[in-house]
Amino acid sequence: MATIGQASCVIYVRMSQDRSGEELGVERHEKDCRKLAKKLNLNVEHVYSDNDQSATTGKPRPGFEAMLAAKPKAIVAWHQDRLLRLTKDLERVIDVGVPVYFVTSAENGLDLSSPAGRAVARTVAAWSQYEGEQKRLRQISKNQQLAEHGHWQFSLRPYGYQRVNGTIVQVPEEAEIILEGYERVLKGASYRELAMDWNRRGIKPLLGEQWKGSRVQRMLENSHYGGISSYKDEEVDLDEGKKIQWAPILTPRQWKDFRELKLNRKRKRSWAVTPKHLMSGMLSCGTCGGQMFTHLQDLKARTNTVNAKGHPIRVPVFREDGTRAKTTAYVCFNKHCASIRGEYVDALVRTVVLKKLADERVVKAMRPSDDALPLQNEIADLQRRRDDVTELVGEGLMDKAKAREKLADLSERLERAQAKLTAIREESPLSDIRLSESLPEKWDALAVLEKRRIIADLGLQLTINPASRGVRSVDPETGEKYTERAWALRRIAWELPEG
Ligand SMILES: [Zn+2]
Repeated sequence: MATIGQASCVIYVRMSQDRSGEELGVERHEKDCRKLAKKLNLNVEHVYSDNDQSATTGKPRPGFEAMLAAKPKAIVAWHQDRLLRLTKDLERVIDVGVPVYFVTSAENGLDLSSPAGRAVARTVAAWSQYEGEQKRLRQISKNQQLAEHGHWQFSLRPYGYQRVNGTIVQVPEEAEIILEGYERVLKGASYRELAMDWNRRGIKPLLGEQWKGSRVQRMLENSHYGGISSYKDEEVDLDEGKKIQWAPILTPRQWKDFRELKLNRKRKRSWAVTPKHLMSGMLSCGTCGGQMFTHLQDLKARTNTVNAKGHPIRVPVFREDGTRAKTTAYVCFNKHCASIRGEYVDALVRTVVLKKLADERVVKAMRPSDDALPLQNEIADLQRRRDDVTELVGEGLMDKAKAREKLADLSERLERAQAKLTAIREESPLSDIRLSESLPEKWDALAVLEKRRIIADLGLQLTINPASRGVRSVDPETGEKYTERAWALRRIAWELPEG
């Protein structure tokens, strides 16, 4: 009971994310605070509390704010780190200029009225802020460990699942859509097709209104649906004796099929759909002007014997298993005037193109507005920020509604940047080439289609002249015998526009 003239105080309690029976903790804290108030002969006017699980964000605490606004005569709290999460919280309490008592240091309380008392308080606050930040770092490595223990960590629930009383359960109608997605993709449907179909059927994603191909893809590539634990999109192996903590939507067999298909599609995009040979259709026949295409023919080797016309006689080459060795040749498909071994032409083209590309000025002149690099940086940055948001929410350091808004915005910007980059790349693979330090390696790693685009961009023109009759097989200048290769190269005329 309050007695007349008795000084008053308020109590402040805060929930935090301790794993040791939290509710009990808060109740005990309040009891302890009341005991201390009684001992100090203070009348408790009000108990302010916050359900705030984090120690180090600047997230507003309504209870704390209300308490400061009420201008109490004194504050009683259990421990300094319950009242003050950040050093700046302390400064605000100092500004209020009232005595503050802590159960854990009740002997002399926190004397905010003297410089020495404030210095002690600031030191304590600085260290508890440090501890909070350390805890956050530990949390990040902890998430990896959780994944290895078979836990699926998410803050924004994934499509198809939700958390009910701490258990991850399927949302049946969404799980059905996901399964449908996998099944159709496995039968050859594209992600874009799926997105359009789902939009048409009024099926909505969790964020935003519309599906997009990229979004469907990203969703289906989530290994958790296939029962595989992962952390930051990387599949992780479970620690021994651990099991996944959710029911997968796919059977292991289905997930394996999907993963294989994904790899195949990646390969397909750069190879199967595209021309197999570097210059097929891009060479002109020096005799009739017709196009030359690749043709698989018997490999023949020149002998030292010459025929009546003085040409070396050529004989088929056999493989170890007795079959004839084959080689790819470019052949005039118009009148069959000429044919030339593919590897000779391709090697020459490689040399010419690399020499040209090595000249930075040339590439600059060709692509004055090359903005692939800044875009790549922007994309990396946006991806980082998206990961950060996800992480913050995962640790309860960011409000979910706010995160959802942020994520939607980031995803949208990411998609825009990626679309731009794709457009630039489709325009010309040269923009990628320029980002590379080692040109030859980069060139060799390019898909044939990309190489062909570059060759076309550069305007390289090749004509294959016929093997002229009566030619000597000896270089008139050096007197040396032409090699097969040198002999072939003599027939290639090429032109590359300047600038
Ligand atoms: Zn021809």
